[in-house]
Amino acid sequence: MNGKVKLLIGAVGLATVATGIYLGKKTLPELSNYKRTTIPSALNTDSIFSCPHSDEQSLGWPLLEDRPESITFVKAKNMKQAKQYAAKNLRIYNFDLGNDLELANYVNEGLTNIYNKYKGKTPMPQNIALDLNDKAEAYYDDKTDTLLFNSEGLSRLVTKKRVSDNIERIKKHPDAYGAILTKLDEFTKNPNAFDRFDCLDLYDMIVDIECLNHRKKFYPNDTYMEPGLTSGSKFGLVYHEYGHVLYYKIIGDSKRLKSLVADMEKSGTNNIRCKVSCYASKNLHEFIAETFRALMNGKKVPKDVMELYKKYNGPQMP
Ligand SMILES: [Zn+2]
Repeated sequence: MNGKVKLLIGAVGLATVATGIYLGKKTLPELSNYKRTTIPSALNTDSIFSCPHSDEQSLGWPLLEDRPESITFVKAKNMKQAKQYAAKNLRIYNFDLGNDLELANYVNEGLTNIYNKYKGKTPMPQNIALDLNDKAEAYYDDKTDTLLFNSEGLSRLVTKKRVSDNIERIKKHPDAYGAILTKLDEFTKNPNAFDRFDCLDLYDMIVDIECLNHRKKFYPNDTYMEPGLTSGSKFGLVYHEYGHVLYYKIIGDSKRLKSLVADMEKSGTNNIRCKVSCYASKNLHEFIAETFRALMNGKKVPKDVMELYKKYNGPQMP
């Protein structure tokens, strides 16, 4: 195994960790009193919003209809402010990201972008918590309706060194495209301007370019094989995880979800899923989350990808 192949596998490995979805049973002590809102099986976000949200009413917050169409994100100066922002604007009342204020602002801003995109008409997860078990960089636990972020893992894995170690190789890559070359130049000139989440996006761009070789090799006859659909926004991690949140809420019924997952496995659509990203080819869940992320990034998604996404009731953009 030569050095290049090893690096490639390392890069693909990070992508898998970066956007893992956790389906196991997990009980967080601080969430033990929390009852998940029952959301009926539905095919679009409008019908989610027509169902009563008794939890919100009982907490004395305004009804969903009273939500403003847009929120202006304001960076919190301390964790108390970040929690207040999440409760007041996003109606997320369990928001605990330890002492990681940068992460708290990142999550609030990413979720605010989603809220604004849907003009307030999209459900938020009930809980934001730390992944203390180092399972992934972030994941969604549908059992407790919790988005979990690995504060320590994000600091450990997404380093400036990891980006700079890859720069020279990627610059020479035949598939490196304008946006990433510009970003890499900016990074080289002023790495201090890049926080963990900028670096994560840059790293995802690098991974995507490497993956393109795989995709081309497996599906030489597919014409649309451009890299970069899932990168280009530092909030990609939040968008991806929120794609899981919304998909669980849209499908609602776990039996139906399982049958959709099995159906996609038999569908012979891997070549289409690969057009979004390598990670999108993993299973239905990751295809939906990665495509949602591409759409939130404002990317034009190939027609056959969009048809597949619609067929499996992927969350539509408003
Ligand atoms: Zn995922």
